[in-house]
Amino acid sequence: MESVDLDALSKYTEISDNARFFLEHSEKKTIYTLTVRISEERILAADCYVVYHNTARGPAKGGIRLSPHVTLEETIDLAERMTWKTALVKLPFGGGKTGIVIDPATMTLFERINLIHEYVHIMQGDLLSGAYVPAPDLGSTPQDMAIIYGETHRLDSVTGKPPRVGGLPGRLEATGRGVAHAVRLGLMKFLGKPVEGATVAIQGFGNVGSWTAKFLADWGAHVVAVSDITSGIYDPRGLDIERLRAFAAQHGEIKDASGEKLTNKELLGLKVDCFVPAAVGNVLTGDTAGNVKAPLVVEGANGPTTPIADKILADKGVKVVPDILANSGGVIASYIEWRKAKSGSITGKQEVFDSIEQLIGSTAEEVCGLAEEKGISCRMAAQVTAVREVISAMHDRGWL
Ligand code: NAD
Repeated sequence: MESVDLDALSKYTEISDNARFFLEHSEKKTIYTLTVRISEERILAADCYVVYHNTARGPAKGGIRLSPHVTLEETIDLAERMTWKTALVKLPFGGGKTGIVIDPATMTLFERINLIHEYVHIMQGDLLSGAYVPAPDLGSTPQDMAIIYGETHRLDSVTGKPPRVGGLPGRLEATGRGVAHAVRLGLMKFLGKPVEGATVAIQGFGNVGSWTAKFLADWGAHVVAVSDITSGIYDPRGLDIERLRAFAAQHGEIKDASGEKLTNKELLGLKVDCFVPAAVGNVLTGDTAGNVKAPLVVEGANGPTTPIADKILADKGVKVVPDILANSGGVIASYIEWRKAKSGSITGKQEVFDSIEQLIGSTAEEVCGLAEEKGISCRMAAQVTAVREVISAMHDRGWL
């Protein structure tokens, strides 16, 4: 199990052999082949992995990843992380994930719509019963979620829909809002610094990275560097984030935006108050973690830090706010959207932001309290909290 080290955690919480069995084995791992007749001659085919890791606390929740590189192992790992994330912030969900092995950039809209239709056809039992509630992830979009809703006719069968199709105002910004708030809390807690005037470098300028940058800049932080897969931009006085967001929206990348260029490697080694990896997994490794000069790392991406890198950062005294806490804003908003779909209530953007901040804030206090009490890292404390929660739910359900 990559996402947590149960041996290490068992020093701080009791994990019986039976509980361990459940936690180490995903409840369901299904491999489908999605096939779509595109024309007289052509069939579009893609492997599709659907994993439910643990649903003791509620329906499997987790996004649909469309990527030519996604594997079953990665889908299992991401489903596990959803189990911990939902348990940590006490949402009534379990952990799930879908990985579809296809490059979305190579598909026409027509092909994409038909692929999603086929996905719903094979998954309709679970989508209609509410056993699995998907959402967007890398490579999938709110429009894909609207297409899923168009097939199920149930607003609560999928989250991350566009606001005018049963979605939630603020869902798009939600993960970045939560990451920015986690940065704000981390700066105060670990460096005794307010967000105003603090310096931040952000790797990744997609949904999570660009919204995190925007909120931090709005709150007075100097976002001195951002990057995407093509390039990075640096200004020690703080970048004009609105301008960069507009540029990225227009060009799809920031490579040709004006300003001093820097590489992703240079960005990672900048002397700033906080570094936010918000792109992909495994960017902080045994090779790169030693270069980090920021005293605080807030994980926007899922799994950006390998276990070896985690140890290197701890030895250097770098504080890490772990992904399952820092980027939980997205799933918190998903929960509000799901609840809204069930109740028919109308929810405003500010209410969504307030709920995200309140839940991340109270969870951070619980996690930091445990970390201080046991003398362990925030990551370990967050994992202990989440694992305890899942084990208690398995007792409640009579599984143990
Ligand atoms: P996205 O596709 O919108 O953006 C990804 C960004 O990372 C892009 O700017 C891309 O160019 C950049 N990038 C990709 N590979 C890179 C590399 N090797 N080096 C530097 N930059 C690189 O994706 P997103 O939705 O912003 O998700 C980013 C991360 O956050 C992922 O790990 C995802 O699983 C995680 N996450 C996303 C959400 C969400 O609500 N979108 C919620 C929780 C976690």
